[in-house]
Amino acid sequence: MIIVMSPHATAAEIKAVETKIAELGYKPHEIEGVERKVIGAVGDERGKDRLQSLESMAGVESVLPILKPYKLASREVQAKDTIVYAGGVPIGGKPIAIMAGPCSVESHDQLLTTAHLVKKAGANFLRGGAFKPRTSPYSFQGLEEDGLKLLDEARKETGLPIVTEVMNPREVDLVARYTDIMQVGARNVQNFSLLKELGKLKKPILLKRGMMTTIKEFLMSAEYILSEGNRDVVLCERGIRTFETATRNTLDLSCIPVLKKETHLPIIIDPSHGTGHWDLVESMARASIAAGADGLMIEVHPDPASAFSDGPQSLKPEKFAKLMESLKGFIKLMGRTLD
Ligand code: PEP
Ligand code: MN
Repeated sequence: MIIVMSPHATAAEIKAVETKIAELGYKPHEIEGVERKVIGAVGDERGKDRLQSLESMAGVESVLPILKPYKLASREVQAKDTIVYAGGVPIGGKPIAIMAGPCSVESHDQLLTTAHLVKKAGANFLRGGAFKPRTSPYSFQGLEEDGLKLLDEARKETGLPIVTEVMNPREVDLVARYTDIMQVGARNVQNFSLLKELGKLKKPILLKRGMMTTIKEFLMSAEYILSEGNRDVVLCERGIRTFETATRNTLDLSCIPVLKKETHLPIIIDPSHGTGHWDLVESMARASIAAGADGLMIEVHPDPASAFSDGPQSLKPEKFAKLMESLKGFIKLMGRTLD
């Protein structure tokens, strides 16, 4: 339910309503409106009618049901776009966030070289996996904590905030110690225990859409994080599985306008996993921005041919620099900025 407070509601009246919501077994979430305060009351769907009684409390204007199944993620609850700040850098709003780096953190040299080059080219986040969700248990699984330490060193040297994946609820604290943004990979989008743990953190979460997740399911997964109290969720489309085999996945760019309509959360696009081929990345990056994406995640490797993972879709640093150069004017043309 949404509790709309009157524009003249006092702080004490707001507090009393929040206390009552909690007494009824629901979680109050304050939402800052332009003219008035709105309080979202979320929790067990059964018995939500009890919240209707709040209508008689002082300072309450109305109590309305939230029609969408995803409550806190919906535009119904918050019309204004959310801007997530990670390491002081915004994701959402006018600026386009550029996250670039290798699929896997492989070595000191590989990561630091890439970090410096992507920064020089204009990226404002460094990505790199230390825990890798590989299809085969015999493939490289990541450097784990040693990889996180290298990411930390790269951040210290370049100043770029870090994005890295967390695969397991047991590793949430460890990964959180090193990173600025916790990435949930496509394969974990419905790992609800992991999402709930991440919801308790005070750190931005980059939630990737699963290869077989509908937009509604994707938003329900975001809701798991939001409902635990963490409002800093960034959505990432990375391609879904269809009958097409020419590309690794089918990049669903139409999800951008759909998500923009349904949710206030920022949405970024990963054309690297979305296509699986480095030479398709530039056109899809451009198309993503044209469709209204708030950022891009792009895999870059100094020597893609010898990459431990995802070499075929990784750009060489000089190709990435060219892509950034070509995107600059286009981003401006679309009324966005590149900080
Ligand atoms: C990745 O970002 O390297 C990754 C494994 O992505 P996804 O979860 O989208 O496959
Ligand atoms: Mn990858």
